[in-house]
Parts: sequence; structure tokens; C-alpha cells
Amino acid sequence: MLGEFELIRRYFTPSALPAQVITGVGDDCAVLRLPPGCDMAISVDTQVCGVHFPAEADAASLASRVLRCAASDLAAMGAEPLGFTLALTLPQADEQWLQAFASGLQQAAADLRCPLVGGDTTKGPLTLSVQVHGSVPAGAALLRSGAQPGDEVWVSGTLGDGAAALALLQGRLAVDAAAGAYLHSRFYQPAIDFPLALALRGMAHSCIDVSDGLLADLGHICHASGVAARIRQADLPLSAHWRAAAGDTQALQWALAGGDDYRLCFTAAPQHHAALQALGASCIGDISAGSGIVVVDARGVPCEITATGFRHF
Ligand code: ADP
Ligand code: MG
Repeated sequence: MLGEFELIRRYFTPSALPAQVITGVGDDCAVLRLPPGCDMAISVDTQVCGVHFPAEADAASLASRVLRCAASDLAAMGAEPLGFTLALTLPQADEQWLQAFASGLQQAAADLRCPLVGGDTTKGPLTLSVQVHGSVPAGAALLRSGAQPGDEVWVSGTLGDGAAALALLQGRLAVDAAAGAYLHSRFYQPAIDFPLALALRGMAHSCIDVSDGLLADLGHICHASGVAARIRQADLPLSAHWRAAAGDTQALQWALAGGDDYRLCFTAAPQHHAALQALGASCIGDISAGSGIVVVDARGVPCEITATGFRHF
């Protein structure tokens, strides 16, 4: 029977550590060195079996997903990863599962340049909790509260993939093999766009990652900034992989209110339009004085939207 410390040693002790990790796994705390003149950004994300992922999900995919979802919050602040800790609650020490989980975690950590620096291991219902630590030049963090009237609203990548992927996993959407592979990868390996996030530091007035749906998350920006947003329905970036299979109404609903996209939504002054377009972002609307969000059709007429983002309670 694999003991706790042997388990940590075997599966959760990286062999090489980057320079910012003074002390990693194996002491009472990890010690991380911030680059000079930087603030620290911290966020924790917990995923519970049966709530955030199905019980039969494969361990490597889960590891990738939990780390990427947590790292998405760093990108949303314009922060660069320093390292993460992992609180792992396991029903049993299944070595096959642990091997797959550890290799998925290692791969994601390498992709994101975010090393594992410590954690906690307990017995109980399968729960994965990742705390990420990042650095951002002092005062340069991208907040939700900085949007200004006259700003344009942007998103990175496509919207609605998370909801479409969940529908596929739950048998509510049928797509071809290529689209299936795309959605599976969007669900378990959401790409976190750190190069874009770091480029936004000098440009964006506000930023958030889309985890609960565009309307809900842009709503947080509007609320925190005391502004209103207008979204052009026709400019919402949707993936051609599943759009036709879902149909226009469903696709729009998923793009506006589906969760788990892990894209960045941000606002910036129009002078940055060309630069942001060159970075691959899509301009989807604008900010004005007031409150709330309206979605308009191609003629500028407000659409009726009943969908709102995902909430736990
Ligand atoms: P303490 O009792 O001081 O909190 P633990 O006995 O819980 O320490 O953990 C021993 C070491 O192993 C610590 O450095 C801790 O950060 C690390 N650790 C424990 N669980 C994990 C895990 N799942 N992944 C990575 N590191 C872990
Ligand atoms: Mg201790």
C-alpha cells in the first residue's frame, strides 16, 4: 500500500525547478522569488468530481484541466506564472490513476511554464484544488474595474466551446470526429493565452477570463467599472466546428451564457484596435456610460436574451 509521503515523492516531486522556485515540494512552505518590482497575483480553483467533471473522466485530462483553469485567472490579471500548489483529495491511492494524473499535470505545467511547488494530500471524495501564483509588474495588474466609456470590448479565441463540449460529453450534441476531437481538447486542454495576456498590460483598461459565460463575466466588468456594454451578436466569434450542428439559436445561447470557455474578455481604447486585431482578438462591442449589457443584431436592434451565466448557488 502506497503511503502518503511515498506517493508525494513518486508522483508530485518535479526533478528540475526553474530559478524563481527557491524551495519546492518537500519543505513546510514553498519559497518563491518575485522578479524585482513585481506584485504577486494569487488564485485558487477547486474541481469536484460529479460537479465539474464526470467520474469516468481520464486522470491525465483532469490534471490538465484543473491546472489550466486555475492558470486562466493569472492570464486574466496580466500575470505570469511563478508556480502552483495542489491540494489533492483521493478516495484511494490508485497507482494507475496517479501515474496518469501526474503525467498530465507535468505536461500542463511544462506547457504553461508553471511548476508544481507544493501541496496537500488527503483521503476523501475526489477533489482537485490548484492554487496558482504569478507575478505582474507593480501596479500593472489588469483589473475588472478599469473599463471606460468609449472602450471597445474584445475577446480572445472563440466563445461557446465549453458549453458545446459539455453538451457533447452529455450526449446532447452530435458532431463529426474532427469537431469531437476539437471540443474534447477545448474542454480538457483549454489554451491559456499568456502571450496575449502579457501584451494587454499596456493596452487593456479591464480584463476578465470567461469562465461563467460572456454575459456573466462581462457583467462583472460592467459592475466593477460602473459602465454599460453593447455587444454585437454578429461579431461573436463562434467555432465552425460545431456551429451548424448546434443551430444558430443554440450557438448564440452557448456563446453568451455557456461557461468554461477560458478565453479573455477585455476592454481597450479604440487607438489599440489594429494592434489587438493583429494579436488575433475579436472586437465584439463597446462600452458606454450607464449599466447593464445589451446584445444587438446586425441592424443594431436589441435582441431578447434570457440566458445568463452559470452560478453554483
Ligand atoms: P505539512 O505537514 O508541513 O503541511 P505535508 O506533510 O502535508 O506537509 O507535505 C509534505 C510536503 O509535500 C510539503 O512540501 C507539501 O507541499 C508537499 N505535498 C503534499 N501533497 C502534495 C501534492 N499533492 N502535490 C505536491 N506536493 C505535495
Ligand atoms: Mg509543516
